[in-house]
Amino acid sequence: MGALNVLIAVCLTYVAMLFVVAFMAERAALRGRTTWLRSPLVYTLSLSIYCTAWTFYGAVGNAARSGMEFVTIYIGPTLVMLGWWWGLRKLVRVGRTQRITSIADLISSRYGKSPLLAVFVTMIAVIGTTPYIALQLQSVTLSFASFARIDPQAVQLADSDATALWVAAGLALFTVLFGTRNLDANERHHGVVMAIALEAVVKLFALVAVGVFVVWGLGGGVSETLARIDASDIGTWQVDNGRWTALILLSAAAFLTLPRMFQVLVVENEDENHLRTASWAFPTYLMIMSLFVVPIAVVGLDVMPEGANPDQFVLTVPLSQGQQSLAMLSFLGGFSSATSMVIVAAIALSTMVSNHIVMPIWLKIAKGGAVISGDVRSVVLVSRRFSIAGVLALGYAYYRFSGGGAALTSIGLISFAGVAQFLPALMGGIFWRGSNHTGALAGMLVGFLIWAYSLLLPSFGPGVFLPAGLLEHGPFGIGWLKPQALFGIEGIDPVVHTVLWSMSLNTGAFVLFSILSFPQPMERLQGAQFVNVFQHSGNPQGWSGGLAQAEDLMVMAQRILGPDEAQALFQRAAVEQGLGGYLPDPTPDFLQKLERELSGSVGAATAHAMVSQIMGRATVSVEDLLAVADETAQMMEYSSQLEAKSAELTRTARQLRAANEKLTQISLQKDAFLSQISHELRTPMTSIRAFSEILRDGDDLDQGLLAKYSDIIHQEAIRLTRLLDDLLDLSVLENGQVSLNIREGSLQDLINQALASTGAENSGLRIRRIGISDDIVMETDLDRLAQVFINLIANAQKYCDAQDPELTIRVIERDNYLIVDFVDNGSGIPAQAQDMVFEKFSRVSDHKAAGGAGLGLAICREIMLRLGGAIAYLPGQGGAAFRVSLPAKLKLAAQ
Ligand code: ADP
Repeated sequence: MGALNVLIAVCLTYVAMLFVVAFMAERAALRGRTTWLRSPLVYTLSLSIYCTAWTFYGAVGNAARSGMEFVTIYIGPTLVMLGWWWGLRKLVRVGRTQRITSIADLISSRYGKSPLLAVFVTMIAVIGTTPYIALQLQSVTLSFASFARIDPQAVQLADSDATALWVAAGLALFTVLFGTRNLDANERHHGVVMAIALEAVVKLFALVAVGVFVVWGLGGGVSETLARIDASDIGTWQVDNGRWTALILLSAAAFLTLPRMFQVLVVENEDENHLRTASWAFPTYLMIMSLFVVPIAVVGLDVMPEGANPDQFVLTVPLSQGQQSLAMLSFLGGFSSATSMVIVAAIALSTMVSNHIVMPIWLKIAKGGAVISGDVRSVVLVSRRFSIAGVLALGYAYYRFSGGGAALTSIGLISFAGVAQFLPALMGGIFWRGSNHTGALAGMLVGFLIWAYSLLLPSFGPGVFLPAGLLEHGPFGIGWLKPQALFGIEGIDPVVHTVLWSMSLNTGAFVLFSILSFPQPMERLQGAQFVNVFQHSGNPQGWSGGLAQAEDLMVMAQRILGPDEAQALFQRAAVEQGLGGYLPDPTPDFLQKLERELSGSVGAATAHAMVSQIMGRATVSVEDLLAVADETAQMMEYSSQLEAKSAELTRTARQLRAANEKLTQISLQKDAFLSQISHELRTPMTSIRAFSEILRDGDDLDQGLLAKYSDIIHQEAIRLTRLLDDLLDLSVLENGQVSLNIREGSLQDLINQALASTGAENSGLRIRRIGISDDIVMETDLDRLAQVFINLIANAQKYCDAQDPELTIRVIERDNYLIVDFVDNGSGIPAQAQDMVFEKFSRVSDHKAAGGAGLGLAICREIMLRLGGAIAYLPGQGGAAFRVSLPAKLKLAAQ
């Protein structure tokens, strides 16, 4: 078998392994076994996506051409990690408390949740990253080609465009599979991170292996190699101070602002304390990565023929020595570097594109869409998937367009310089309360334009985007506007030139415009939140509730977070507020929490827009403005405490009022019931008496009448008994005198039995079953549980007023709990009556025909209480919905 075929086989096996690792990590995360996944080591390793193929191969090439300069790319991040980890901690804390999903989200969220900023940052990120993705594709194809060259049988296989296309498609598949499995509310991708950690180990191991081979296998040991280095040009290289400073600054900035770095550093961070480990472990990783760069470059220059590309030395040196397995390892190292970068970059960019461009457009088109129709989650997921495919397609197109040629080699730094334009807005955002939206926009705009004009466009060469004449003499012959010699400063390195002008003018414009313009209230609020994140990670103010319809919010939240998560969130909030059921009061606190939870899925700006849609207002209130007027954070804290207190008082008063109303209603209903029950008792009694008198006195009754009258007496007697039975049952349950008959049984059988005994399916009520499988077994009082089910099914039969009535029975298993939902498609129960229906004698409307006394649900509630479970009304499901939950195994000791 040819070398290339082996390589392809190894490659495919490796990719398959990545899939398996990612898959297993996802599964472990789903089962809550995350100790491993959440270790600081994995976090540190995931940061290594900083070292892309550009550094894996390129560092050696760079060393061969420009001596020690390659080190600058490692010094920047090292300085950040070692010297500034407290700053990183702040960034991570902000990211966590504000549920930030990307760098675009952070900047937009900080400056008043501005959609415009989000779109702008997203676009710069896409423009800056696409060439970088192309660069990774190129590196994989180049290294592939190096193998193909030594394998004469495989020449026709080595079509580099096809290789790049396959790689891009494979990466898109991986990223779609593991980057958009579900809409994680906090945007963590355990599978992807685990796979990347593995790749980090592979690339480090590969580079070290090649290094060891070069030093001890070819160089003749440490001292000999050192001697060679001394003798080579690298030993005598001059350090260009200006360029070194610029490159260190640039790489430090890019380390924070590259979308993919932001993704692993901030978004995927599980625990702030991981930074503590990463602050020394990551620089160590970088140090080992750079340890053998110079030896490989020097020995490579010695042993390789004149004109060999030093960018490929890591691969070609072992190949030229016949070390095929080592070369293969080295190939896998480069492959890992390239793929991990592309995967994370694609996730980061697609999140931005989808949250800040696609979703807002969709929201505009589907007006009120979050509340009315469809499952928003699937829209988000689909848009993410398409965005991922789009990002990779763009990378591939760029690779094809640029011809995969020399223009790509300088792309790494160009890309760094592009995203570095986010730095002033980012830093200002978390350290300077006075910075604002106008400043951020002006700064980034200026920086971006200078970057594009002086570095990006000229990098394509004269005549492609910028005419040769313009490059030489400036536009219209204006000399000081020459792209590579702005303001008349000639002769400095193009990268330094761009960094100098773009960063200083960007910062200047940012500061100036921030000072000159007045921030919006929302920005002031967010500013205080971001800058003082350590003082109050608590209550940002933004909403004051009361107006919002809790049920509408629930409907929306379910569509975005998924029913389970939304219900759990609402229920928790309700419990915290001292309420039962699933509908908390829409307090500012709760709305803020909800908004943050939503922004984990759709970004801050979109989440804000969605909540505004329901709240019916898009701006902040007078109270918020007053709060803003309090400049100092302490004042804000104090006033927010007062506000919270007064909100709490109002809420308590409201709860008392509600309790009082409930009592009055119950007492009224009881009176009504007493009169009703005497009425109900009297009616059958009267007819029983009347007909039995007829039977007693009438001698000449024919057989037919006799049967009819005695039948009426019988029916009425049954009705009476049923009523008395219910009352008796309830009183027994309430007094706790019941004895339970615990048995094991299948849930499916129980449901079927309940359906059969109500005759529901023959009565025109369609039954839809979800999640009912025959392997769900529970241990409880089956007869009592059946009684509850029968009551709920019978209620749907009686009260569901849809044209085409349907009852959905849905079973969910969750940590030893069984949840059975009964959802019909009728008009449901109005919010104010949802609590009441479980009270004795309560009936929402006077369903004379139905003939119930309002005892059914009260009995259900008592039964569920005895069974250690609960029954509750589940709002926001379209029709009437009742949720029965019970432990799968009833603990007898509780009895
Ligand atoms: P009843 O014996 O009157 O059926 P329940 O306690 O079972 O008493 O129900 C209380 C009230 O709740 C009913 O009178 C009815 O108004 C309302 N209700 C119960 N289930 C439904 C449903 N599926 N759809 C609409 N209303 C319902």
